[in-house]
Amino acid sequence: MKGKIAYIVADLEGSTGAWTKAHTLLATPEWQEARVELTRDLNAAAGALFERGVKGVVVKDFHRTGYNLIPAYLDRRVKLVSGYYTGPAVGYGKLYGADFALFVGLHAAGGNEKGFLAHTLTSRIAEILVNGKRICESELFATVLSAFRVPLAFFSGCPAACQEVKGRMNWVVTCAIPKDPLVYQNRNKREEFILQSREGLRQSILEIPTVEGLPLFAMKPPFDCRVIFQEEAEARKMNAWGFPQEGRIIRFHAEEFLEMYENLLKIAYFPRLAYTLRYLVIPLTRVVWRIQSLKHL
Ligand SMILES: [Zn+2]
Repeated sequence: MKGKIAYIVADLEGSTGAWTKAHTLLATPEWQEARVELTRDLNAAAGALFERGVKGVVVKDFHRTGYNLIPAYLDRRVKLVSGYYTGPAVGYGKLYGADFALFVGLHAAGGNEKGFLAHTLTSRIAEILVNGKRICESELFATVLSAFRVPLAFFSGCPAACQEVKGRMNWVVTCAIPKDPLVYQNRNKREEFILQSREGLRQSILEIPTVEGLPLFAMKPPFDCRVIFQEEAEARKMNAWGFPQEGRIIRFHAEEFLEMYENLLKIAYFPRLAYTLRYLVIPLTRVVWRIQSLKHL
């Protein structure tokens, strides 16, 4: 990977410092702890990549609002991208010349009972089926990157999430970050466990065999989608879009990946007015979220 640009998508659920749901909610005391550990995880990952001779490391903060990493604690060589962007790459914004990607700290798909805080797009959704098969976020995110010819080389998250990615992209090097509630209760054990997990993360990045000639993963159209919400009332609230709905299931058909992805994002996140005004709303929310992320540090 000498001379290449690495693009890291960073999430919180599968990072070393997220042990409970509270760690992943914004502005909780647990979140403040988790984001410090997340920043340290990314420093370990970036350090390993620079040791491998990469020219640059771009980190996209991708949990919730995209303002979790603490810039002051982050390796100064890293280019940090915070917040949510509508394009050029949906969600990511600019890719800054990325040659290959790493997904660090992601989680398993909604419906995977073995996963830690498993969900797809939002925990209000129980499961998303595409052409009858459950999908995970990594498939969606890898497909977005494939349009820019950026292959996925590495994944870390809970063991169940690693298994999902291996099953779909067998060339991806995975690193499991397990969570044991018994370890969590003991502060010393927990701190030791975090250090060990982080060292495992660093080592597995050092051991990526190659990033040359990796396949590009892209979900294959056409797409028959079923978005199954936890609650029928939630499904009704989020379906201001008039997609066909039966009980807690919203259905739609899409011929192209981006059409499917945009429909999923609309259903998961956007009230109708916010979506119409998204080119105005999203930059504004970035300002609010940035200010929010500076509190309590
Ligand atoms: Zn997340």
